[in-house]
Amino acid sequence: MPERHAGPQAGGPVVRRFGMRATLLGDGLRIARALPQKDLRMVGPWVFLDHIGPVTFAPGEGVNVAPHPHTALQTVTWLVAGELLHRDSLGSEQVIRPGQLNLMTAGHGISHSEESPPDRSPAMHGVQFWVALPRDRADIPPAFDHYDALPVMSRGHARVTVLMGELEGMRSPAITHWPMTGVDIACAGSGPLRLALDARFEHALLLLQGRATLHDAAGPGTANRADVTGNTEDIVPGELVYLGTGRARLVLDLHDDCRAILLGGLPFAEPVLIWWNFVAHDEEALRRAQADWPAHAARFGTVAGYAAGPRLEAPELPPNLRLKPSR
Ligand code: MN
Repeated sequence: MPERHAGPQAGGPVVRRFGMRATLLGDGLRIARALPQKDLRMVGPWVFLDHIGPVTFAPGEGVNVAPHPHTALQTVTWLVAGELLHRDSLGSEQVIRPGQLNLMTAGHGISHSEESPPDRSPAMHGVQFWVALPRDRADIPPAFDHYDALPVMSRGHARVTVLMGELEGMRSPAITHWPMTGVDIACAGSGPLRLALDARFEHALLLLQGRATLHDAAGPGTANRADVTGNTEDIVPGELVYLGTGRARLVLDLHDDCRAILLGGLPFAEPVLIWWNFVAHDEEALRRAQADWPAHAARFGTVAGYAAGPRLEAPELPPNLRLKPSR
C-alpha cells in the first residue's frame, strides 16, 4: 500500500540504528535498501537510499533496469566502483564513473533506463538515492545533469566530497530544491574526522565499507563542545544510523579504509507519498501518474536506445486506496 512518508518529529540528537532490506534492482541484482523504513520515512528530503554492491559480475552479468517513470523527485547516482549507462526520455545518454555524479530531476515526469555499459569493469559498487521535491517544485520540468567533478575537502587521511547541497560552506554544483547535504567520506587507512553540521538538519550515516566510531557528544547542551566525551558508537556497513536533529558537529574515527555517506536536510513540514517509482504530494497526483504511464502519456516520453527488453510496468494500485497516517 502507498504510505505517507515523513521523518520522525524533530527531536534533537539521537542515535537510532536501522537494518537494511535486501531487495532486487532491475532484472535481479540484489541490493540493500536503507530507506524507507517502517519507523523512518525520510531524512530531510532523502526518501530512498539504495546501496548497490559491492559485487563482481561474471561475464555477461550486470545491471539492467528497463525504462520506468519517475515524478516529483531527483535521483542521485554515485559510484565507488564500476560504470553505469543512463538513458532518459530527454535524450540523455551518459556513462557515469566513480567520482562523478548523475542527477536526474523528474519533476513533472521523466523515464529512464540504467545498464552496465558493454565496455565495463567487473566490479560494481555505489549508491542511488532519491530526493523528494517539495510541493512547490514537484511539477517543475524534468532535467538531467552530469557532474564530472565535485568539490572535495582534504582532512588528514579523509577526503570529503560534497555531492548535494552544502557542508561547511562548500557547495556542490548540483541543482537542489531544498536545504540539504549529501557527502561522501573516504578514508585511506584510519584517522579522525570532525565536520561542522547544520544543526537545523536531521542527519544519517550510511557506511559502504570499513568501519567508523561515532563520538556521540551531541546531547542537549553539548552539541558545540570543543572537547569530545561521552558515548562512542561503532558503525559498520549494513545499517543506517539516524542521528536526529540539533547536531552542530560530527566527530568520527574512521577505520579500515572506511567509506561512508552522510546525508541530511531540513525536515519536510509535510509528508510525501511514495508508490512504486512515483513521489507525490497528494493522492490525486499519484493516481494521475499511475494512469499516465500505461497510457504512454507525453510527460514520461520514451527512452531511445534501450534495446534489452520491454519497459517496466507499474504494479496495480489498490482500488480502495487508503493512505496511512503521516507519521
Ligand atoms: Mn529509476
